[in-house]
Amino acid sequence: MTDQRIPLKTCPVCSLAMVAEKSNEDAPRPDTFSCLHCGCVISIAPSDPDAGDD
Ligand SMILES: [Zn+2]
Repeated sequence: MTDQRIPLKTCPVCSLAMVAEKSNEDAPRPDTFSCLHCGCVISIAPSDPDAGDD
C-alpha cells in the first residue's frame, strides 16, 4: 500500500519520488523534500504571503 496522505513531490533532477520531511514538528505538512537517489533537497516555505502561483 502506498501512503498517499501527503502529495508526493518528484525530484527535478531525476524525476523520482522524493521523501517528505517536516522541518518543524508542529508543521501541518511536510515542507522539505529529499531525493534519496541524487541527494537533491527542496525546501518549501510553509506560508509565504508573496508567493504567487509561479
Ligand atoms: Zn533526484
